[in-house]
Amino acid sequence: MNDPLILIAGAGGFIGGHLVADLRGRGFTNIRAVDIKPFDEWHQLFDGVENLSADLKDRDECRLACRDVSEVYNLAADMGGMGFIENNKALCMLSVLINTNLLIEAQAAGVNRFFYASSACVYNADKQRDANVVPLKEEDAYPAMPEDGYGWEKLFSERMCRHFREDFGLSTRLARFHNVYGPHGTWQGGREKAPAAVCRKVIHALESGRHQIEIWGDGNQTRSFMYIDDCIQGIDRIMHSNILEPLNLGSSELVTINQLVDIAEDIAGVALERSYKLDAPKGVNGRNSDNSLIQQHLGWEPSIRLRDGMAKTFAWIQEQYLAGRVVPIAVGASPSTNGHGHRTPRFPR
Ligand code: NAD
Repeated sequence: MNDPLILIAGAGGFIGGHLVADLRGRGFTNIRAVDIKPFDEWHQLFDGVENLSADLKDRDECRLACRDVSEVYNLAADMGGMGFIENNKALCMLSVLINTNLLIEAQAAGVNRFFYASSACVYNADKQRDANVVPLKEEDAYPAMPEDGYGWEKLFSERMCRHFREDFGLSTRLARFHNVYGPHGTWQGGREKAPAAVCRKVIHALESGRHQIEIWGDGNQTRSFMYIDDCIQGIDRIMHSNILEPLNLGSSELVTINQLVDIAEDIAGVALERSYKLDAPKGVNGRNSDNSLIQQHLGWEPSIRLRDGMAKTFAWIQEQYLAGRVVPIAVGASPSTNGHGHRTPRFPR
């Protein structure tokens, strides 16, 4: 098939929206984009795509979503930054229903390939206690001691993909994303991640004239951050490779959160007075991606410099901020609405 039907689950989200954009840009016209959110809350919504609002925790909706599909990209999950996942463990774990039902229905529909978006949160917490990290290798997920809630769900879903492949022959591919950032993502409201939160805080300080910033933790925790373009390229490479085991998909450019703030300040041309909220959720002390395996298998790894990606992200968030698209901060979500309010058109039955 030259233009197979491709399902993007979670297409209203940050990475899903960019994936739809990329596929369209590369000439694919047969795309089904599904998300639980009403269309006006999707980060990106495109013409010429079969856009559908549906709850993929529901098996019937998964059956309809997978009908006639050749490739599934499962990017749907109830998730957010540390503030969200530390306070909403049950909600995060309920995403297991999405992956379970999608796998069952993808298998039944005879889907050719199934991509699952896993996370660096699957890694054993004992390997991430020190800010001076040894980068995480894929084997470091076991013995299992992942991030509570969200990480357990991701690790379990990885195993499900593996066993659907081994037992039923469904061709699954898995990537463990390490902190993805970029334009058209969540930058406020409680689900945003560190790069977007830092950009927003610096922009707010700049625009309000109050040259202060609050940092979660002591700022010495270390992370790597992958720009969205690298993520999208990596998804395509992994999806169409013969690599069956989960692969790290992340940048290996390690920074402290203080250094991330330095970068945002430098882009903005300000220096802010810093305060540290030591009791805020901050996750593990240190985490970086060991990219030996992806290099070995694909001869490629994410390479966009943090400074370059942050400049683009900052510019986009500043545009949103100046356009007045600011909502009150509210961490958490109601289980009954998934935090997204009403749903609009469902699948035609
Ligand atoms: P996102 O929150 O922007 O996108 C996820 C989308 O899934 C949302 O639009 C949400 O509405 C949708 N969704 C949630 N429940 C649903 C349901 N029941 N049915 C249909 N849609 C549903 O997150 P993202 O950053 O785009 O992440 C995409 C995937 O990558 C997720 O699986 C996430 O866990 C994983 N991941 C992301 C990062 C990151 O840094 N962004 C890191 C590691 C892993």
